[in-house]
Amino acid sequence: MKIGVLAMQGAFAEHIDRLNQLGVETLPVRLVDDLAGLDGLIIPGGESTSIIKLLQDYKLIQEIRDLADNGMAVFGTCAGMILLAKDVTDFNLEPLGIIDISVKRNAFGRQKESFETELLIPILGFQSFPAVFIRAPLIKQVGSNVEIIARLSDNTIVAVQQGKILVSAFHPELTDDLRFHQYFLDIVDGHHKKYQVDN
Ligand code: GLN
Repeated sequence: MKIGVLAMQGAFAEHIDRLNQLGVETLPVRLVDDLAGLDGLIIPGGESTSIIKLLQDYKLIQEIRDLADNGMAVFGTCAGMILLAKDVTDFNLEPLGIIDISVKRNAFGRQKESFETELLIPILGFQSFPAVFIRAPLIKQVGSNVEIIARLSDNTIVAVQQGKILVSAFHPELTDDLRFHQYFLDIVDGHHKKYQVDN
């Protein structure tokens, strides 16, 4: 199994580190050729406007769309989630649009710009997951094929999955808990559990 991590801007080093801890062959992705032969790709958090411009400049957008269409698994965290969404409010550029969700950027007010909370994420088991939110987006709407993976206690949707595309508003790469990355690797493998939080 070979996983690429888009390494243009943002928290890519932390994702690479977590994948290394899980013993997976991992490759930083900067050029179209780096995408060849990947089973999965992670798009990290950072600044979505900067990352989308770099993706345009390096001609990666259509290539990632095509590979996802052909079964490559993709995991986007925070800005990565914004980039993968079909619809984004307050975003002048066109996102990749490979997951049927509508996202609002910087959705948590000033006071809650950054926070950490223990989330119960049923697909990860009974032990709560430390979820780090940094100027995070939220998921306003999901299409009928999208499974909800995690919600905040006020019901805000913060992680979803559509087939082999996984996104989270929070940053699992900024904690020592490897379960969310392991879940992505299970998706890549086709072994993930089917689970859905109530819609
Ligand atoms: N607010 C950032 C954006 O809109 C995302 C923040 C993050 O990835 N931590 O791109």
